Amino acid sequence: MIRIEQLQKSYGSVQALAGIDLKVGRGELFAFLGPNGAGKTTTIRILTGLTRIGGGRVFIGGHDIVADPLAAKRQCGLVPQHVNLDSELSVLENLDIHGRLFGMPPGKRRARSAELLHYVEMADRAGHPVKQLSGGLKRRLMIARSLMHEPNILFLDEPTVGLDPAIRRRIWALIKRVQQDGATVFLTTHYIEEAEFLAGRVAFLDRGRIVALDRPQALMDGLGAWAVDRIDGETMATRCFATREEATAYSAAQDCGFTLRRVNLEDAFLNLTGKKVS
Ligand code: ATP
Repeated sequence: MIRIEQLQKSYGSVQALAGIDLKVGRGELFAFLGPNGAGKTTTIRILTGLTRIGGGRVFIGGHDIVADPLAAKRQCGLVPQHVNLDSELSVLENLDIHGRLFGMPPGKRRARSAELLHYVEMADRAGHPVKQLSGGLKRRLMIARSLMHEPNILFLDEPTVGLDPAIRRRIWALIKRVQQDGATVFLTTHYIEEAEFLAGRVAFLDRGRIVALDRPQALMDGLGAWAVDRIDGETMATRCFATREEATAYSAAQDCGFTLRRVNLEDAFLNLTGKKVS
């Protein structure tokens, strides 16, 4: 559904994307994981037609985004990083306007809005002004809005940033459901647990380059199963071990604070790039 060949983008002297190659198949839930400034938003903006491509080629559902931008865009639903709902309008009106922009006839807009409000469990909020909604409800409405025109691919840029853990889990369940219902999902995040929990495959993005790409478990496999964070004053150093026994023995020998835990994607990212994701 998504094919990216040598994608590049610079803003003046800042190179945001340094040549990315990637294929995402139909029905995949794919995550771009990287720290601030890695190039995640730039990638999503190019893929959804909001930012002009700098170099290379991108195909969305088989359509070249430069040669056939409208057909490519028609395939895409986008949930941007920042809330961009019309806060003066109601929940239903926000959905309706989006349907109009995609040329949906009134009957279809009504039916699809009702279906989606039910889908995101907001049927009782249809007439509410958006400005009165909580952050979590706004996110759910943005997901509903992005699905109005029945896109094949849903792009989500940092979908749970700023939300508390319980609400984050609700959004995760919704994103999983969108995938289970047949859409391809491409999301960016700098939350380790989000990528681990949701994604079938993850790409680590660092300074505009993909430095690793695989299933979350495969990215962690080489490291072992257990990690010890050794905390000495202001500094923290992490070591990974194959077994809990080895990790426990190492911890017992330390004369400073430590945390024993399972290895996670952050360890894999740190191992490859020398820096933390978040
Ligand atoms: P974040 O998690 O902070 O959103 P990101 O991984 O999404 O980060 P981008 O927003 O794509 O990263 O930014 C990649 C690089 O391009 C950064 O160095 C950023 O400062 C720069 N950049 C992004 N947009 C612009 C712009 N419109 N003008 C100039 N530089 C930009």
